[in-house]
Amino acid sequence: MPAENQSNKFQTIIIGGGASGLVAAIVAARRKQTVLIIEKNSAIGKKILVTGNGRCNLTNINVSPDKYYGENTKCLHNIFNRFSYNDTIEFFEKLGVKLKTEPGGRVFPASNQASTVLEALERELFRLKVTIKLGERVTKLNSTKLGWQVNTDKNRYQSKSVILANGGKSYPQLGTTGDGYDFARQLGHQIIEPKPALVPLQLEGSWFKDLPGIQVNVELILKQENKHIKRTGDLLFTHFGISGPVVLDISRLIRKNDTGLFINFFPAYKNSKELESFLNINWQSHLRKTILNSLAELLPKKLCAVLLNILKINPDKQVGQINQKGRKLITEHFIHWQVSVKSTRSFAEAMVSTGGVALDEINPKTMESLKAKGLYFAGEILNIDGVSGGYNLQFAWSTGGLAGINCST
Ligand SMILES: Cc1cc2nc3c(=O)[nH]c(=O)nc-3n(C[C@H](O)[C@H](O)[C@H](O)COP(=O)(O)OP(=O)(O)OC[C@H]3O[C@@H](n4cnc5c(N)ncnc54)[C@H](O)[C@@H]3O)c2cc1C
Repeated sequence: MPAENQSNKFQTIIIGGGASGLVAAIVAARRKQTVLIIEKNSAIGKKILVTGNGRCNLTNINVSPDKYYGENTKCLHNIFNRFSYNDTIEFFEKLGVKLKTEPGGRVFPASNQASTVLEALERELFRLKVTIKLGERVTKLNSTKLGWQVNTDKNRYQSKSVILANGGKSYPQLGTTGDGYDFARQLGHQIIEPKPALVPLQLEGSWFKDLPGIQVNVELILKQENKHIKRTGDLLFTHFGISGPVVLDISRLIRKNDTGLFINFFPAYKNSKELESFLNINWQSHLRKTILNSLAELLPKKLCAVLLNILKINPDKQVGQINQKGRKLITEHFIHWQVSVKSTRSFAEAMVSTGGVALDEINPKTMESLKAKGLYFAGEILNIDGVSGGYNLQFAWSTGGLAGINCST
């Protein structure tokens, strides 16, 4: 390992060149800090490129603490009051990224390309002469009398402050293998056990095996003790179970002892009576249609065939031949279809990680550690995760921005 020399000394070292680290670097460099980003991948911002299905849903105009989970979401007021979604919008617009807001308040680059966001960040890092070391994995972080010593698998660096921005454990194929948790633990921080979130669900059984690729707008109802949690949105069948925005959002809440997860395939109707009245009107005028064709006007045909088959209703029977009992069976089950969750899928398919560095050991106004001076945290490494819709990137930009400002003071 080479000895340190002047070129290995920086005022701020940022571990991780993802969303939070890149914003932290820009903010610190604008404040005249000498900044080094160390990234183990061969390029920075690899995860940014896959966000929002390649479109990068970079924030949401409805950002508020109630969109997040973690042990201390109240402290998010401190964070978002200092770096809000408006600051994010202004930050990117000043970098030349035109933005647009879509339904649900979700903000995207007008180009519909995540690469527009990353390229703007790269241009600014270049303009500010931020040093970037690629393909170097940080292996050790030590506090010394002179500040911080950061060892990688290739070099050794020194700095006055360090920002740990190396993400969580989700999508390890993009570099996020949870290394930061170990560094934080060694420096005295408590780590809340990370788990996959915004993740598809593996179902018991095989009834859904013929449905991969079928997407349908549903209401999901998760029953826990005497609480019913409801979410509406698109559900996507896969070969192992279910995915899609509504499933990802509810996945965070699935626990071992849940009494059941139910799909309402007719989310406009809240109970089987309402659905029955609607379907009866529909059916009265189509008595000679097969029940399958009649339902297929409202839902994907393949899905109707599978569900009717499970209910042991002949799909080719004419509507007029289905008796009251049969009609009840359809309405009751199509509005309240019970699925049995085997498990959430793994980190490899999770968009974010829950858990991480405990927030009550961090000053939420500065992102500085309360355990080690000159150590800052930003992004998914922290014990906060948001629902889908741009909230996780907003948390990364906000905490990166705050860490960048405060490591420079
Ligand atoms: C498929 C997918 C789609 C998503 N879509 C959205 C979306 O549209 N909107 C949204 O808000 N959120 C989205 N997210 C979540 C969002 O991308 C993350 O929450 C956000 O990127 C976290 O930023 P971060 O800076 O904390 O970490 P990351 O962006 O994960 O960056 C951490 C970086 O640190 C590097 N690193 C790790 N360990 C080391 C080490 N030892 N040495 C050097 N470098 C290291 C990693 O290689 C990585 O580049 C999505 C996530 C995924 C996986």
